[in-house]
Amino acid sequence: MFVEVILPLSLPGTFTYHVPVELQDQIMTGKRVIVQFGKQKIYTAIVKNISDVSFVNIDTKPVISILDDLPVVTNLQLDYWQWMVDYYLCTPGEILAAALPSALRLQSETTLLLHPEYKTNSSALSEREFYLVEALEKEKQLTVANVSKLLSLKQVMPVIKSLLLRNVILIEEELTERYKPRYATFVRMTAMAKDEQYMQELMPSLERKAPKQLDLLLNFIRLQQDDDRESIAQTYLLKKAKSSSSILQSLVKKGVFELLNEAVDRQNFTNEEVQPPFVLSADQQQAYLEVQGAFEEQKVVLLHGVTSSGKTEIYIHLLQEALLKGKQSLYLVPEIALTTQVINRLRKHFGNKLLVYHSRFNDQERVEVWNKVLDHQFKANNEGQVIIGARSAIFLPFSNLDLVIVDEEHDSSYKQSEPAPRYNARDSAVLLASMMKANVLLGSATPSLESYYNALAKKYFMVTLERRFGEMIMPEVTIIDVRDALKRKQMQSHFSTKLLDMMKSALAAGEQIILFQNRRGFAPVLECKNCSWVPHCINCDVSLTLHKQHGQLRCHYCGYSIIPPTSCNACGSNDLRMKGFGTEKVEEELQVLFPEHQIARLDHDTAKSKRSFHRLITDFENGDIDVLVGTQMVTKGLDFEKVSLVGILNADQLLNYPDFRAHERSFQLMEQVSGRAGRKHTSGKVAIQTYNPSNAILKFVLNHDFKSFYNHELIDRNKFDYPPYFRLIECTVKHKDEAEADRAAKVLARELTEVFGKRVLGPTHPNIGRIRNYYLRQVMIKLERKLSVKQVKQRLQKALDFFQKEPAHRSVILHVDVDPQ
Ligand code: ADP
Ligand code: ZN
Ligand code: ZN
Repeated sequence: MFVEVILPLSLPGTFTYHVPVELQDQIMTGKRVIVQFGKQKIYTAIVKNISDVSFVNIDTKPVISILDDLPVVTNLQLDYWQWMVDYYLCTPGEILAAALPSALRLQSETTLLLHPEYKTNSSALSEREFYLVEALEKEKQLTVANVSKLLSLKQVMPVIKSLLLRNVILIEEELTERYKPRYATFVRMTAMAKDEQYMQELMPSLERKAPKQLDLLLNFIRLQQDDDRESIAQTYLLKKAKSSSSILQSLVKKGVFELLNEAVDRQNFTNEEVQPPFVLSADQQQAYLEVQGAFEEQKVVLLHGVTSSGKTEIYIHLLQEALLKGKQSLYLVPEIALTTQVINRLRKHFGNKLLVYHSRFNDQERVEVWNKVLDHQFKANNEGQVIIGARSAIFLPFSNLDLVIVDEEHDSSYKQSEPAPRYNARDSAVLLASMMKANVLLGSATPSLESYYNALAKKYFMVTLERRFGEMIMPEVTIIDVRDALKRKQMQSHFSTKLLDMMKSALAAGEQIILFQNRRGFAPVLECKNCSWVPHCINCDVSLTLHKQHGQLRCHYCGYSIIPPTSCNACGSNDLRMKGFGTEKVEEELQVLFPEHQIARLDHDTAKSKRSFHRLITDFENGDIDVLVGTQMVTKGLDFEKVSLVGILNADQLLNYPDFRAHERSFQLMEQVSGRAGRKHTSGKVAIQTYNPSNAILKFVLNHDFKSFYNHELIDRNKFDYPPYFRLIECTVKHKDEAEADRAAKVLARELTEVFGKRVLGPTHPNIGRIRNYYLRQVMIKLERKLSVKQVKQRLQKALDFFQKEPAHRSVILHVDVDPQ
């Protein structure tokens, strides 16, 4: 018996091993097996195929052991992965690495540690487990490879797996993410109180002397029976019983109850009561019915609803419905929009039926969710599940998926650009849904041109919400001509008098402000006034950005930094000037302009950790911050009640970005930030500063005129053979030697041209021609939409394989990006 397995490596294809007789009756596709690859290394692999005949003609190595009693990956997932491999031209191993939480794919290099909360208890351990724990106590940490020197290869993984499951050990990634369980106080009956005789005596006496205590006790018993659990969260109990902690304390003193501090299952936020969804408005109801109608015809729906039109409420209704059917649903949001704000909003309605899958969670939590989703297929009374997650949630082992919602479907962060697999989670989710016969809803206030085009072409069904919820009007947009303001001396550094006036009146009214500047740091360029010399990164072809707070010039691509020079490296002049401005500078200037107000900054630098990000958001929500300056981060799905003004400081920098999507991105960004203004009780204002007020895109933003924007942009895309009319595949060649990069790129372009003719463009220099000392060259392929994707990809894969197999290209790195963002 032979198996074809997927190894977590970026090598093409699968690998064949034979299955020893004693393992044959346990082997199944989707189970994890331990195999040896190369001389020493062992890996966790996934069984993809089983056969009586070998898939290859060479001697095979044996499967060392099988890790799972039941498959951890479903057959459907294996098909889905294969589709991704073929479509995105990546390897099965790359998909495996992206899909499985790392605790499910141990390998030689994985580092193991003792769990910080583990207390030595040798009696609970088997001999082998004890052996490993003892070694860890001495060594503090061991790699799987080290462990396999202690135990035989056959035993290693099962022992590790069992200790991981029981939280005796953990893998290093978890610790670096600082493992912290949540604790809550639970109430439990003491052993004494469980005695029936005792109860029979206690109850009548309580009835006479302490009826409130009796009431609490009866409530406890009822809840315990309802939920079929031994202990009940204190807060929940007191709320349900309308009781108080002093009454509870009396029962504790009597020895009826005991309190314990239990680690809460991180996904299980105690049994709080769930609330039904809001009643939909007439507009929402109409949209909801249209969505349902389209679902019945198995159409993908594009919900185009302006910001704050109540899309999320509609999602909640749809999710609720799938939940009541006992099915699974997936709600995808951009990574950064997956905040406590959104989670709490859903939690209110779905309680612990809501599972959150987040790449910023520690690995153990991700495994918990993985297993819950996987176990759904075995649930007898199929309880529904709602899963909210960022892009990687498409890889969860669904078995009973009914609905997929992709919120902010236009968001470019659905695309993983680095490393491979370079997949787009929105497009992949649409495919997943079709494989599972689930409904798909793509939602956005500013749909991508691709989805909008699909709707126009009747491939998708479009539902629109043109008005904001609750009579709220769209924010009023003012375009401020910076050139004109400069002429009239109405600019104070980067702020026009007009914008400053608007800010003053908002602040005077106790309202909040968001200012958007899509560049972090203090000043993007330091330039010699005399000879125009600019300090550059030594590893990348970019200028260095000044970060004043840290007294550094930094490269945003590789992290290289230097202390800012005081004189010019080229001519020696001391006259170095800052050009342009970033969020840090805006923040500093605002502190001078508005000394009596709280100014804060939200960008990549200030939101490095999950905690500081949440802290900023919470402080702003609570009104502890008056003005929030930020990069794109401030545009994503955040809902602040008291923001009445949004300022965009430099629209030109967005509009002039050298990329065919620049206009689409600018429009989306400006509409989305505008959408942060005036969400609840206040009416919103938006101020856009620009040197070029007649720009067509700004006009569309001014009038919130989506249709005209799309029509305008589609004409350009059609004229220049760009998506959605053409599909793009971008091949990037990387080499440390510039001449080699050039040579290899030319060969690649020539070989691809033999297959695809004039559809091949390049090689060209990308916007940044060198990153981390690798020279980059690109070859672009533009394909008509009518071509068969399958055939194209097969021919392309063949050409790429041929290119990579040439000995001269050994040291060349080749990246393929299908549908680049
Ligand atoms: P969107 O997702 O389109 O930006 P939301 O769903 O967040 O819009 O709705 C905007 C605001 O209106 C939110 O504060 C939301 O709670 C409120 N809202 C939307 N629909 C309803 C409804 N049917 N009943 C009560 N409040 C609603
Ligand atoms: Zn100079
Ligand atoms: Zn650099």
